[in-house]
Amino acid sequence: MTFKPQDFFRPEMLAETAYPVPSAAGMIKLDAMENPYDWPETMIQAWLDHLRRARPNRYPDPKAPTLKAALRDYAGVPEEADILLGNGSDEIIQILLLALVGQPQAAVMAPEPTFVMYRQIARWLNLDFIGVPLKSDFHLDRDAMLAAVDRHRPKVVFLAYPNNPTGNLFDENTISEIIRRTPGLVVLDEAYAPFARSTWMDRIGEFSNLLVMRTLSKLGLAGLRLGFLAGNPEWLEQFEKLRLPYNINVLTQLTAEFALSQGELFEQQTSRIRIDRETLSTELGKLPCVESFPSAANFILFRAAEADRVFTALRQQGILIKNLNPAGGLLRDCLRVTVGTPEENRAFLAALRAAVAH
Ligand code: PMP
Repeated sequence: MTFKPQDFFRPEMLAETAYPVPSAAGMIKLDAMENPYDWPETMIQAWLDHLRRARPNRYPDPKAPTLKAALRDYAGVPEEADILLGNGSDEIIQILLLALVGQPQAAVMAPEPTFVMYRQIARWLNLDFIGVPLKSDFHLDRDAMLAAVDRHRPKVVFLAYPNNPTGNLFDENTISEIIRRTPGLVVLDEAYAPFARSTWMDRIGEFSNLLVMRTLSKLGLAGLRLGFLAGNPEWLEQFEKLRLPYNINVLTQLTAEFALSQGELFEQQTSRIRIDRETLSTELGKLPCVESFPSAANFILFRAAEADRVFTALRQQGILIKNLNPAGGLLRDCLRVTVGTPEENRAFLAALRAAVAH
């Protein structure tokens, strides 16, 4: 008798599909919330010079104090808070939930639709995940959230701020109420902070159960895989134990330090993206059969009749966006486009106009 995956994995895992990343070869890539701007040649030279100090034969510094100091400065992490580093914020979600494995009735909660990895990682780890539907305008259903908190007493609540894939910022007062009412931790996932006008970073000291998660991916460093969690040292000290000691490699540490010293360039790029988001939103608003939603992030969610067909038509014209229609529910007929360069946005709009006129 041969030993098979069926004998090894739980049935839910066998039924899973690996996170799909479609090939974007030769396409205008507007599906993954990346910053579309490459670095100027002089900056690339300076970066490569900086990388000369890397010693690939040695393990990276597990504490990465220089990098943490740069992140603290960049993100305005309050003095009383500590920082936990992750190989992308995905890994931080995994670290947070790993802590709950084996605890009876440890529920994880998030409004939905939201970033899929909260549910996904909870499922891998066999944790109870409670998804509380957003209202049809994509805002938090305050009463439903508070009732679910009381009923399930979650150990962790994730709130993406702004939310992915809807793009909106949830109401601050409702968030405060949820933080106060939750008997566990509330993680404000601020992945899109470079494009939003508000943050919870400076409020960490106000709540003993608030953690704020960030990433450098959307700022313009998606290739590095660097995320971080800011919060009360009492909590982070425990989560540190679940972090693999060398999770942030030498090249990532040096590159992030270098990039954070070039704040002005990233500020220029992100402010350009914020301006182009408004242009894109206005243009989407002019299209019949398209309903677009306000965004505080670097992408826009919109609804179009026959979304599957529109998505395919765009792809045939070399434009890759994200089709959310398969998720169903509130995302029925929804598509998500990342804000690209002005040329990319124009190409997207032209292709979309053609597709909806069909
Ligand atoms: N949080 C949210 C809300 C996201 O949308 C994403 C990426 N799409 C992440 C976290 C993960 O980002 P990363 O792992 O690149 O840091």
